[in-house]
Formats: sequence, structure tokens, C-alpha cells
Amino acid sequence: MKKALTRPLKKLGLYHPLQSAYRAALRSLSGTWYRIQYRGKSGKGHACNFCNQRFGKFIPSFPAPENAAAIEKHHVIAGYGANIICPNCQSTARERLARLCLDHFIHPAGKKILHISPERKLSPYLRSVADVFSADLQPGFYRDIDPSVQMVDLTKMDFSNGQFDLVIANHVLEHISNDRDAMLEIFRVLKPGGRAVLQVPYSTKLSDTIESAGISDPCWQSAMYGQEDHVRIYALDDYMFRLEEAGFHVKVVQPGELLRLSDVAQQPEECFLLVTKPA
Ligand SMILES: [Zn+2]
Repeated sequence: MKKALTRPLKKLGLYHPLQSAYRAALRSLSGTWYRIQYRGKSGKGHACNFCNQRFGKFIPSFPAPENAAAIEKHHVIAGYGANIICPNCQSTARERLARLCLDHFIHPAGKKILHISPERKLSPYLRSVADVFSADLQPGFYRDIDPSVQMVDLTKMDFSNGQFDLVIANHVLEHISNDRDAMLEIFRVLKPGGRAVLQVPYSTKLSDTIESAGISDPCWQSAMYGQEDHVRIYALDDYMFRLEEAGFHVKVVQPGELLRLSDVAQQPEECFLLVTKPA
């Protein structure tokens, strides 16, 4: 039924505009509801580094039932748990972590940035301080976030070598079958000394990454990888090995260090990978 409706809408060029309008309406309604619900809980506790509000508790987020088994079984750090969504501006924990580390370690102001799959709160912030090229394989999904977003295949980009100071592909590589090609391309388009934000869902329990070549079965992917459009669950050590194999230097910033840096609401177990192309 969904497919029967989707196809003609795509042909008419109405699918993405309607989807954007639907998401905007939903966000507006839920935003109003969150602000009412959390009004009495502001002013103490954790901070949001996008709207600078503080709340005793942020909004939790948990996986859908069909995704939960794989996430729990492999103890995947995947953006779920307590304190995920800001009750005031709806920033997500993954955006707050990226911004915290950008501001603290990378300093994006004035830099030339390639932002893949631009996030709702991170994108306008970056565009206000830097020269940003927003891109995705399916740019229509992101037009309501950045109208200038372009179609780019991360595994085969048209950019010449060493064009960017920073590439951000936050929670993207777990969607890409040939992730090693994408890593090599990111390495290629970065300037020497350039940085990349390449967070992914990962397991510290697995010793090997779980994946199957050419998989395209949403139900199976939910059951195996914890999301209908993911193609693997990375073992953290293997993920770092793949990045190093592509040429990057990877420094792990441990969750304890992140918590000492700031009282921004974040996932207590998630580490940040500071990924650098050697100068
Ligand atoms: Zn906020």
C-alpha cells in the first residue's frame, strides 16, 4: 500500500515535499507538547549546546520492537536511552556530541566543510560559521534542512583531492555496503591535517563486525543489525581498523573525558572518534 502510494508521488515530484511538510507538522506538534510537558523541569541538570537551555531530564528514545533485539543482544551504542532529545529545541544526543567535539577539538569556524546527510540542528549551526557543502545520495530527504543540498555518492565523489578541511558523515557509514570505498573517498577529498566526524553505531561486545554483502531485506536488517536500512553492526575495534586502513589516524576520546568536558546531555557510554588525515 505504502509502495503503491509512494511511486506515483515520486513520479509527480511530490513525495519529498509532502514528506518534508509532514515531518515539519509533526515536529511542530511534538515540540509544543514537549515544551509543555517539560516546562517544570527546566533550569537544572543537563545542558543543550544548541539552545543553551537546561533540563533535569531530556526526552528518552528507545528502539522500535523489531530493532530492539539486535541492539540489546550486541549492546550497540546507537543513540537510544535516557536524555536523548532536547525538550526545547529537539536536538538529538548525536548532534550534541558532534557539536561538543567540533567546538572543543576541531573548531569549525571559517573551515571548508563537506556535510553528508545534514542534521537538523547541526546544519544551520555549521552554515552560520563555516563554508559548508551539504550533500547526500538522496538529497530530497534533506531539502527542508538545507535547500542547497546536492546529490553526492560518498563512495565516488566528483571533488578533486584535498578540497575540504572537515568532512562530517555522522551515522552514515553503517548504511553503505562498500564502506571502505567511502572511507578512502573521504580521505582523498580531505586536506592533509583535515578532520572527519564519522560516528557510527558500534558494539564493544562484538570482536568482529557483523555484515552480509548485498543485503536488501528491511525485516532481516532490523532483526540482524537493529535498523531496517543498516547493513552492519560495527565492532568498535574493527571500525577503527578500517579507518586506519584507509589512512586515517584515530584517537578515541573516552566517555569519561567527554563528561568531564561538559555537562551537555549525552549518552554516558559513547566515545568520540577524533579522525584525522595525517599532515
Ligand atoms: Zn536544545
